Amino acid sequence: MTTAQAYFLTVALINLILAFSGTRVSDPEGKQKSIRFFIVAFFVNFISWFLYVFDINVPLQILSVTLSAAFIWGLVVFSFKRCELALPLIPLLAVFFVNCSFLAYFISVGELTSVFHVSAFFVPIALSIVGYLFINIKKNRNPSDVILAYACFCMAIIVVSRTLLLELAPEVFSRTVVSSQIIWPAFSVISGVFSLLSYTEEAQLKLKKESNTDQLTKLANRRNLDVTLGNEWARACRHDRSLTLVMLDLDYFKSYNDQYGHQRGDKCLQEVAHVIKGAAQRAEDFAARYGGEEFLLILPDTDADTGRYLAEQVCSLVASLKIPHEQSPLNYVSISAGVAVLDRNVYKDVEGLLRAADTALYQAKRAGRNRVHLALNE
Ligand code: GH3
Ligand code: MG
Ligand code: MG
Repeated sequence: MTTAQAYFLTVALINLILAFSGTRVSDPEGKQKSIRFFIVAFFVNFISWFLYVFDINVPLQILSVTLSAAFIWGLVVFSFKRCELALPLIPLLAVFFVNCSFLAYFISVGELTSVFHVSAFFVPIALSIVGYLFINIKKNRNPSDVILAYACFCMAIIVVSRTLLLELAPEVFSRTVVSSQIIWPAFSVISGVFSLLSYTEEAQLKLKKESNTDQLTKLANRRNLDVTLGNEWARACRHDRSLTLVMLDLDYFKSYNDQYGHQRGDKCLQEVAHVIKGAAQRAEDFAARYGGEEFLLILPDTDADTGRYLAEQVCSLVASLKIPHEQSPLNYVSISAGVAVLDRNVYKDVEGLLRAADTALYQAKRAGRNRVHLALNE
């Protein structure tokens, strides 16, 4: 095997490995199966390079360049699918056909310089589309998408620069031929690896979000709450800032479930959670489901009056939802709240502050429900 054959085989294998890696990745649930297009594109590129391991004739050369064009335009199709866009199939097929026709013609007449120029025209167009889609269109763009996009832009610039060099300074071009052999395998690796890493990053983010979110209400869950509360307590103590907790609990909710059923109960919890989320308006405010039908608002840099005012707003908004509840004296679903404000002389730890909010809530319940009680720091 010659050095050139070993090079073609290595590049072919790189593409085959990347295509196979794609089979180990699955699209996020409910999304189009974009990964299939990635696998096909890299497999096609594998064949394109593999053909050159042999001493190929003109028809096989035409097949090889057609497959390499299919790889580039396959990346465009993959990008459309990955960005969940409708595929402009007819224009893409037309451009692909024109691209292949030019390549086939110049190969058949032996004008290899023109083959080079044809690629330098079509490849940058295709790669710019890929880069544009990943940078500007893809939802929830992650760092891997950005790297992939910039790799495409860089490759487009390199391809154009080399064809200009061939025309303007052929002696410089001939000196860059050997080093340029690294460009295509490098591009295959970068585009392949970061396309796959993008799926992984997406899955990691989704898992992280899910593990911090309550499935029913979409508010932060208890796990997330414990971490945030610990952080806010430490920050408030360190900078001597105020911190207010509002503990909320639906009134007579057991009997609501008994009368209307668990499903209606769940729906009611979702509507109430929506109101509570609306109360946490500032970026630093935090709303969480504390447990069953209990919720907690963490309000940093908030004094007792503001905390109480916000809690009263939640109570009146929940009552104004007018969710029928026959066994409640109000005839509608209502909520009670306990408010506690950090005072380092009274509360030694975060549990103490939480207990105070809970006790204030209990007092609001005892005082008749559908109301707010403020914990007295004494
Ligand atoms: P109070 O006014 O004193 O709070 O009375 P209550 O009936 O609301 O008493 P409590 O707070 O102890 O009731 C908790 C009820 O919340 C029990 C359970 O049926 C209901 N619950 C807890 N989690 C869920 C849930 O995820 N879905 C539904 N539908 N109900 C839940
Ligand atoms: Mg309750
Ligand atoms: Mg409760």
